[in-house]
Amino acid sequence: MPLQDLIQADLPFLRNLRQDLHAHPELGFEEERTSGIVASLLEEAGFQVHRGLGKTGVVGTLQVGNGMRTIGLRADMDALAMPEHAERPYQSKFPGKMHACGHDGHTTLLLGAARYLARIRKFSGTVHFIFQPAEEGRGGAKKMVEDGLFDLFPCNAVYGLHNMPGLAVNEMAVTAGPQLASSDSWFVTFMGVGTHGAKPHLGKDPITASGHFLAALQTIVGRVVNPLQPAVVSACSVQAGDQRALNVIPDMVEIGGTARAYSAEVRDQLEAEIGRLAKGIAAMFDINVSYEFRRRIPPVINHADATVRALKAAQAVCSSKVVTNFEPSTAGDDFAFFSEAAPGAYVWLGNGPAMNGALHHNAAYDFNDEAIPTGVAFWVALIEQELSA
Ligand SMILES: [Zn+2]
Ligand SMILES: [Zn+2]
Repeated sequence: MPLQDLIQADLPFLRNLRQDLHAHPELGFEEERTSGIVASLLEEAGFQVHRGLGKTGVVGTLQVGNGMRTIGLRADMDALAMPEHAERPYQSKFPGKMHACGHDGHTTLLLGAARYLARIRKFSGTVHFIFQPAEEGRGGAKKMVEDGLFDLFPCNAVYGLHNMPGLAVNEMAVTAGPQLASSDSWFVTFMGVGTHGAKPHLGKDPITASGHFLAALQTIVGRVVNPLQPAVVSACSVQAGDQRALNVIPDMVEIGGTARAYSAEVRDQLEAEIGRLAKGIAAMFDINVSYEFRRRIPPVINHADATVRALKAAQAVCSSKVVTNFEPSTAGDDFAFFSEAAPGAYVWLGNGPAMNGALHHNAAYDFNDEAIPTGVAFWVALIEQELSA
């Protein structure tokens, strides 16, 4: 039976599975039910299964023939802490939790490929199916790596896939180079001397200093970073004073934000420049400042060789409908920790048009089950090509 027919035969099962996962979303490191389902389906299909890597992570290993090459495929399993605002039969049963990024789909696609590959076994080598917890800002990939993912399961290459609204369900995007930005947090606290709002000369006002800092912040991207290198610096939280005490200049202003870049050099530059600006402003106003730049996720940069392999698989499935110059996203994905450990490629799978304008992280977003055949076929083609028997 050809690939597409076998995937079609498994489609009712996979669609039900996807909708069941959607109805039972779990947040990062809490994916007990989801990882339990993943592990038991892998065991059922004859895999060696390793549970509990990165708390709720699961790795299923399939070795066929005597090929020496080893490939890692990543799916993320977690949902977001947000309500679902859409009427659908498989709506979230857990208030305040929702699969608004389509990770229910990613888990399903990788299980679909695992079931197919375990049955047809038309390759020679080893595949590690990596089911990652806590992609949404909770550090699941890093935790898996720290728990020994690549010591236990060394890989010659790793691949990740994410759904993308706006591309058709029979369409994919595979592009070399930067895909997703680094995603880091920064914290600036200006400490002055609180005083009466009517007597500012008797204190040191951190609010006025903060105003100068915020106004100057965009000069880092506009005047310091190379204009040919993308970068984002945003202040996303400013905390000071009290609306009920409008005659008090507070001691302290706490500012926090995000910094994004596509290269290690610009990332270093943002860390240095935000701090330099904060310290300079503090000196200017004779107040104190503390600064912390917290590195969260490196940029996802597709490796040239892994990208060629992924592109060949995508073309085998989607023929001419593969976008090769897809614009990078300023979002982040901690798949970056996997592709730091082995040559990696991160690809986009079409999710069809954005329904009612709902994009990733919208309360009405949904993975499109019509994309399941393309996604499963891509994973299968990648393995059968890269580990050709
Ligand atoms: Zn997301
Ligand atoms: Zn996502």
